[in-house]
Amino acid sequence: MELYIAGGVGEHGRNCFFLQNGGDAILVDCGLMAGSDDPLPRLTESQIRKLKAVFLTHSHADHTGALPWLLRQGYTGPIISTTPTLQQLPFIVQNAVALEQVAPRNEKCNGITWGLSGHCEGSVWLKLDWDDKAILFSGDYTEQSAVYPCDVLRNQVADLAVLDCAYGHDSTLWNDSVTAAAAAVENLLEKTPIVFLPVPKYGCGLDLLLQIRRRLPYVPLYGDAHFCKQTEIALVDGKWYKPLPQRILRSVRPDAAENEGVVFLSDPQLRGAVGERAKELLEQGAMGIMTGTPDAGSFSSALLAEKKMEFWRYPVHLNETQCRVLTEKNNFSQVLRYHSPNFASPHRITMK
Ligand SMILES: [Zn+2]
Ligand SMILES: [Zn+2]
Repeated sequence: MELYIAGGVGEHGRNCFFLQNGGDAILVDCGLMAGSDDPLPRLTESQIRKLKAVFLTHSHADHTGALPWLLRQGYTGPIISTTPTLQQLPFIVQNAVALEQVAPRNEKCNGITWGLSGHCEGSVWLKLDWDDKAILFSGDYTEQSAVYPCDVLRNQVADLAVLDCAYGHDSTLWNDSVTAAAAAVENLLEKTPIVFLPVPKYGCGLDLLLQIRRRLPYVPLYGDAHFCKQTEIALVDGKWYKPLPQRILRSVRPDAAENEGVVFLSDPQLRGAVGERAKELLEQGAMGIMTGTPDAGSFSSALLAEKKMEFWRYPVHLNETQCRVLTEKNNFSQVLRYHSPNFASPHRITMK
């Protein structure tokens, strides 16, 4: 059996893992490298012909953005992921199969074991048993979210574990990062009446909301239409969310022309209409806080360079230390750390 790394190791983005056993193969994730001239996973035509199934750990574009390309290359097999992940994809996929129908959560079935990974709505880790080998993919993973449940990885046995290590050598403690991000909002609000936060469509926006509301109980909070809709979904969809404080979720008001307070905008890179809204807010004297990785060439990158936004990370991945601690709590023969430029790619790993 061989794992061929089509992207995502030694770099941030384009996560794509091709697992081959004899003439058959499966793919885990099919991501794009945003802002790159060479954004696609490194898959050959003959590899694509061998594919029997594609699994998606979650909907973010660095894990799914190259799927339309894969379909254009002739892949017609199943695309398997949780129902929220499939619903969040910004394009139509034929042959979508709900992971919950293939195997129940946390129970091995058809050689597949999966659990929630705490990173966003519907995000999962996957363990695949194939012949006598077991390979575990953590997906993007955090045990710290107050919003998204995580079925923590403990005592799992695998020949190879592909683990999220997106923050690499940055050893800042989770609590310190979160406190610093919330404090940055508070500090900026002393200088400007409006602070906007570009957040992922599906991800840490709700976690940030909880942290900010706890720290700043009286500041008015606003969200664009997508963000407000996410607060409503989180209140009613108990399956994919932790129990959340209604009072806080209901305290977000729709973003309107005249605001003072904190405004959540649902696109971390501030593209299109979201970027236009950010421009209006900037004209009113607003400043932004970026909490995730900016893509090269994005409006967010430009605003960071112009110092119209500050960068304070809200952690939704693991760093090197957390990755090592996770490894110690499991039984992995081999570990491959993905999602960071800090660790070079071996390009392929053969398991005998
Ligand atoms: Zn992600
Ligand atoms: Zn990712």
